[in-house]
Amino acid sequence: MVKNLPELKVQYIKGVGPRKAELLAKLGIRSVWDAMMHFPMRYEDRRNIRDIRDTRAGEHETVSGDVISSSLKNIKRGLKIFELSVSDGTGLIKGKWFNQPYLKKIFKTGRKVVLSGAVKYGWRGAGLEMENPVYEFIGDSDDPLVHMGRIVPVYRTTENLSPKQLRGVLFNILRAHGADVQDTVPGEILKRNGLPGLPESIQGAHFPGPDEDLGQLNAWRTDYQRRVSFDEFFMLELGLAVLKQGKLRERGISFNPDGKLVDKLLASLPFTLTTAQQRVFNEILSDMKSPYPAHRLIQGDVGSGKTVVALMAMLGAVECGYQAALMAPTEILARQHYLNVRGMAEGLGLKIALLTGSAREKPIEEIASGGIDIVVGTHALIQEGVNFKNLGLAVIDEQHRFGVMQRAVLRKKALNPDILVMTATPIPRTLAMTLYGDLDCSVLDEMPPGRTPVKTMLFTESDKQKVYEIISEEVASGGRVYVVYPVIEESDKTPLRSAILGEEALKKRFPELKVSLIHGRIKPAERETVMQEFKGGNIDILVSTTVIEVGVDVPEASLMLIVHAERFGLSQLHQLRGRVGRGSRRSGCLLLAYGPLGEEARRRLDVMTETGDGFRIAEEDLDIRGPGEFMGTRQSGIPGLRVANLVRDAGLLEPARREAFSLIEADPELKGAPELREALEKFWHGKIELFKTA
Ligand code: ADP
Ligand code: MG
Repeated sequence: MVKNLPELKVQYIKGVGPRKAELLAKLGIRSVWDAMMHFPMRYEDRRNIRDIRDTRAGEHETVSGDVISSSLKNIKRGLKIFELSVSDGTGLIKGKWFNQPYLKKIFKTGRKVVLSGAVKYGWRGAGLEMENPVYEFIGDSDDPLVHMGRIVPVYRTTENLSPKQLRGVLFNILRAHGADVQDTVPGEILKRNGLPGLPESIQGAHFPGPDEDLGQLNAWRTDYQRRVSFDEFFMLELGLAVLKQGKLRERGISFNPDGKLVDKLLASLPFTLTTAQQRVFNEILSDMKSPYPAHRLIQGDVGSGKTVVALMAMLGAVECGYQAALMAPTEILARQHYLNVRGMAEGLGLKIALLTGSAREKPIEEIASGGIDIVVGTHALIQEGVNFKNLGLAVIDEQHRFGVMQRAVLRKKALNPDILVMTATPIPRTLAMTLYGDLDCSVLDEMPPGRTPVKTMLFTESDKQKVYEIISEEVASGGRVYVVYPVIEESDKTPLRSAILGEEALKKRFPELKVSLIHGRIKPAERETVMQEFKGGNIDILVSTTVIEVGVDVPEASLMLIVHAERFGLSQLHQLRGRVGRGSRRSGCLLLAYGPLGEEARRRLDVMTETGDGFRIAEEDLDIRGPGEFMGTRQSGIPGLRVANLVRDAGLLEPARREAFSLIEADPELKGAPELREALEKFWHGKIELFKTA
């Protein structure tokens, strides 16, 4: 860059003093570059300046003329009206502002102004007028109009900084420094993707030319806008490519499993693998055989059979004399995985252990001595003091909140083990590319046979009797029921129905049934007992909070009631629903919503009743919530996207990724593009060290 725009403070810009600088800081604008990256949220068409005699009531018009007269009137206490007459030689129009007496000083008679606003008829045939129009003075110089006579940008702003002021600041900044913007993206990449240069793109996205299409602009589809979004994706993917390339240069374990344990396991299972399971296992296997530390994401909807695949991979490591670990996000899940794995691997003669924070006996010494083959646990596994003799493979389950940086910590913990990340929340492709962009990806896109789709129905409070009837019939015919509440207990802050009161009510309503309760404040061991009772059939109705959200496996559970369904996010509803329909029994899910429902809640619930397809649900969720909210992206260690939008600009992500990865493959340290390398390090600054100085 000619001038270092990210380091150039915005307060040295013409028209920005310390006070405005403070307000701008509230918007995250500190440097000139920050300001340039603060793009309009929409555009307004103020191109046509109309003759005053041609303006029509009911239309939004822009006119220009001389101030003929003005007056400030005190109508009554607390109401002052400033009125202005403007003439352009074809006619006269009034401007009216309420309680802005200072305008009297600004609008001197004879000044040339432009007004823009909705036109209406004044009181008692007083002619045409505009209430609170936007205004701009035409100076004596040849300065172009900023706020009128063009397509104007409208910015998200903050209190005490008007959209107009902010527009003025941006205009000055671009005028002073627009030409200093340096384009670091190689020209061939731009050419291949039909993208214009960066300086003109930034300019054009802020202050579009007169021939642009307003609809295209507001949809963020012009070439200039696309270029700006492309850059952000490109920097993001370039960083991920460097991370991945760096990993490829590290040495990992080259496994050479003989398949004996895996064969034994498969022979003992009451089912055969689906084609998808077989394929994903082969992908994992070829990772394991390679000499590089593998990092693979296994995506599969709830119930697609990830656990078996993970176990097969772990057995592969054990066959080669290494240890394997399986890490789950909660104690319940860790215990369940432990029981599962132990159950399946029973006849294989392996030492399998559980390690959680609250476990009384911690097999720390056996883990260190190598006496244990497979450890299942929680985050306790990666805490200090836990050392493996030779960890070869780590499987991380359900870790969509586990980002790039945390994975880096885990890698340092052991001698570059292979890492598998399993997630049951299907992630839309676009998001997977950013969240897990440095990983290889496998998808379990096929359900084991014999599953029936979960019939999902929506009820409101007035249908409650019907809901009770369905529950009662389900239990009577041998089914088991989950009832999920959003909170453990009632409070003043959240007037929601709670699990604790829900349990009481259900016990009263169904005195003949066994009703039990679990939630996050109940001790893990106790929770486990309750879960086992439910699994064993000693409990008919299990009332709970979202502690059962992930992974808990009770194939006999055939009905779920979600109370306050309107309160849950789409992905969460899908996760919850995945707890039923895991056996051969026909299953159902009842969504009980308390109104009045907002439009968004309505859409979420409709999607749930329409489809069981996890990927479709994930796409909808991303669309509804936006990428920032989706699954806590912010914690993932990915630089925030300021301009690009994963939904709106989805089509740009793939080319950006392709270009970034092929560039890094050809030139891993960007020796041929030092400016790009510098820009890249700035983009990722403080997030992760991209280029290690070896
Ligand atoms: P996920 O972890 O993907 O939600 P699980 O691995 O827990 O799914 O599998 C769900 C259930 O399906 C388990 O009871 C498991 O034993 C069973 N299962 C797994 N693979 C198959 C298969 N190929 N055929 C039949 N059942 C399977
Ligand atoms: Mg699972």
